[in-house]
Amino acid sequence: MQPACEHTRTQVLARRNGVDYVECLDCRQIFEAEDLEPVKTEEEEE
Ligand SMILES: [Zn+2]
Repeated sequence: MQPACEHTRTQVLARRNGVDYVECLDCRQIFEAEDLEPVKTEEEEE
């Protein structure tokens, strides 16, 4: 049995066409960052 993963720990793999692709460090699933729960990134301006 594998518990439901909430993908709380992710790393960015690549950015393409303005879309961030992230990998979950727990379940190794790869998906678009936009598919994740809304994340407050207002303070992550570079
Ligand atoms: Zn996950």
